[in-house]
Amino acid sequence: MTQRTFGQPATPRPDGEIERALVVVAHPDDGDFGAAGTIAGWVDNRVSVTILLCTHGEQGGFDDANRDAMPAIREREQVAASAALGVKDVRFLPGHRDGWLEPSWELQRQIVEVVRDVRPQRVLIQSPERRYHRLQASHPDHLAAGEAAIRAIYPAAENRYAWPELISEQHLEPWHVSEVWIMAHPEMTHAVDITDTFARKVTALQAHASQTGQMGDELEGFLREWGAGVASTSGLGQGRLGECFHIMDLG
Ligand SMILES: [Zn+2]
Repeated sequence: MTQRTFGQPATPRPDGEIERALVVVAHPDDGDFGAAGTIAGWVDNRVSVTILLCTHGEQGGFDDANRDAMPAIREREQVAASAALGVKDVRFLPGHRDGWLEPSWELQRQIVEVVRDVRPQRVLIQSPERRYHRLQASHPDHLAAGEAAIRAIYPAAENRYAWPELISEQHLEPWHVSEVWIMAHPEMTHAVDITDTFARKVTALQAHASQTGQMGDELEGFLREWGAGVASTSGLGQGRLGECFHIMDLG
């Protein structure tokens, strides 16, 4: 009998066992800052990746930005950033204002729809738990996106009585997600070596020019220093770069 590790921190399954992965984040660039190197590695291992953005991130950027144009700009930037990683399926949820995201029933239902449509074995989300010593990573929208995503994954996506109209009207059958990766969690359990995909992470974040343009050449140095810090604290070794996660195996 296989031992179930439901709800326990776990090492990830080999990418070869994963056909499809879904990334759910609050804002354009969140998934790229936290996990671009890892996502690029999944794509290299033939995992089909979809990224779902809960808002258009229109509150981001600098004071001289054209506010009306910001949603379209950020959508374009996310598509370009994801393309740098080999991700072509980029989806934006309608109806959520940047800065006002809540783990509402509506947001949960929208995420359930995408989970049942994509049918991912692996889902990467933001942490619903606030880290007080790294408050930027725990932006309220990130907490809301993480909370809505984890509620969507379990139980709603796999329960046919949650929003039964998803089946009767949209033919979206229940789906069980096997593995959840959480970014910016207070307790990290797994580090990924992203040294080989780091250049694509830099390209992806440069594509978010409305957010990172003012950093200029400092962007790469900032990302390198962050990745080196993760590598050294997680034992990936000297000269390596990493990204870290809390991983849950849901059986
Ligand atoms: Zn964000």
